[in-house]
Amino acid sequence: MKKKISIIGSGFSALAASCYLAKSGYEVNVYEKNATIGGRARQLKREGFTFDMGPSWYWMPDVFERFFADFDKKPSDYYELIKLTPAYRVYYGIDDFIAIEDNLADIIFTFEAIEKGSGKLLHDFMDEARSNYDIAIKDLVYRPGVSPLELVTLETAKKVGQFFCNISKDIRKKFKNERLIQILEFPVLFLGAKPSDTPSFYSFMNYADFGLGTWHPKTGMFDVVRAMESLATELGVIFHVNSNIEKIIVENKTAKAIVVNGQRIDADLVVSGADYHHTETLLDKQHRAYSEQYWNSRVFAPSSLLFYVGFDKKIENISHHALFFDVDFKQHATDIYDIPQWPAEPLFYANFPSVTDHTAAPEGMESGFFLIPLAPGIEDTKALREKYFDKIIDRFERLTQQSVKNNIVFKQSFCKNDFVENYNSYKGNAYGMANTLWQTAFLRPKLKSKKVNNLYFTGQLTVPGPGVPPALISGKLVSNLIDKQFLKV
Ligand SMILES: Cc1cc2nc3c(=O)[nH]c(=O)nc-3n(C[C@H](O)[C@H](O)[C@H](O)COP(=O)(O)OP(=O)(O)OC[C@H]3O[C@@H](n4cnc5c(N)ncnc54)[C@H](O)[C@@H]3O)c2cc1C
Repeated sequence: MKKKISIIGSGFSALAASCYLAKSGYEVNVYEKNATIGGRARQLKREGFTFDMGPSWYWMPDVFERFFADFDKKPSDYYELIKLTPAYRVYYGIDDFIAIEDNLADIIFTFEAIEKGSGKLLHDFMDEARSNYDIAIKDLVYRPGVSPLELVTLETAKKVGQFFCNISKDIRKKFKNERLIQILEFPVLFLGAKPSDTPSFYSFMNYADFGLGTWHPKTGMFDVVRAMESLATELGVIFHVNSNIEKIIVENKTAKAIVVNGQRIDADLVVSGADYHHTETLLDKQHRAYSEQYWNSRVFAPSSLLFYVGFDKKIENISHHALFFDVDFKQHATDIYDIPQWPAEPLFYANFPSVTDHTAAPEGMESGFFLIPLAPGIEDTKALREKYFDKIIDRFERLTQQSVKNNIVFKQSFCKNDFVENYNSYKGNAYGMANTLWQTAFLRPKLKSKKVNNLYFTGQLTVPGPGVPPALISGKLVSNLIDKQFLKV
């Protein structure tokens, strides 16, 4: 008889795990508390506008290809990818922005025009970044974080210095122009920590940015969720939405069942793709591997204040992705990581999917997504949300030289309290536990419970870390460990 696996949650990591486990021959059921699947990558459709609720940057296309190839498929079997050109714009002032083009040669040209000599420096920096990408993303991140020895290879031995220097210092040694520095520091923000707390080795994120480019699934990131759902269904996975897991039942130190909306469902094995901290609260105290003190002492990725906005006209002077770095980058980072507080002058990010995808808004209109990164655990009130919307929309109008406030026909916010309520997110983190040196690989919470047999974890609080590509990899890693236990492969 097939072994029965219950998976908690339906984010990218859980979806990936469900595909691998079904392919290995288990009976797989996925239980999602919300009404739709996709976790933080859910989709919001309102009044003719469509928004990806979370991720919007499709980076590292090779990781998606590798995922689908494991099932003899290609991403193009399910969705169409568009390479964005420019990849994004970074705004510094009124009509003052840098466009990051879709190929390295043009980006080098842009750098050289801003700081003489920086073109050659960027070329060399990217050579190193590409080599780090080959080591990290093509190999190291596919190791399960079981032992420190996983990180010891011939290649990493040659780069050991890069683990003990930070990327901010490294970039500042080479480049002097503050704008170029900020652009080069931006990609590691996806790892959830300050550039000054992120090892130089993580320049592989710069290769992901400038080397591999920014892509957009034709009708949004949710295309990938749909693709994975189709694949999982083809493989026999059964999805249950509106299915809140209230408890994981442990008998003889072994996970035996989950309680879903008050009903016990037995399983041979439980995998949780929900936030790790929350999953442990579903266990009686003696079965939890990590204390509250442990979680409280970790560096978490930021929370965010998000706005999904429908405009009744086309917005001018924008690109699909836009970063607003016209205020003090360092001060905002301090407000997130060092002295948690609402930033006086926030950096923000906006995307306009309807620039690329005409189905994202009614004809002649625009859908906009605005994001302010915030400290996890921060106070969240309606008044604060509105105050900050006014702040950024005023700046947006000034920097892009147009009025848009009176053209808003739809607006919905999402902030820390929603992250907690919707996803059981620890302190309302938006994208998990940061990848600092001391929270990397074997130093992260384990894929396999240290206390409960047949209980496994996947997702952005465990290995390898935050982001959609790592979530796909996390699903594969946990499945490999389970196969090792049950199939002895
Ligand atoms: C605003 C935002 C922007 C981002 N931008 C990008 C980006 O541009 N590019 C990128 O690569 N990454 C980005 N990320 C990060 C990326 O989205 C995440 O790292 C990834 O989607 C996390 O997947 P996951 O499977 O670990 O968790 P989740 O997506 O959080 O999935 C966990 C699931 O578990 C469910 N759950 C929780 N508790 C229970 C319970 N008790 N019972 C049943 N179900 C439960 C939740 O509802 C959720 O569906 C962004 C994230 C956010 C929030």
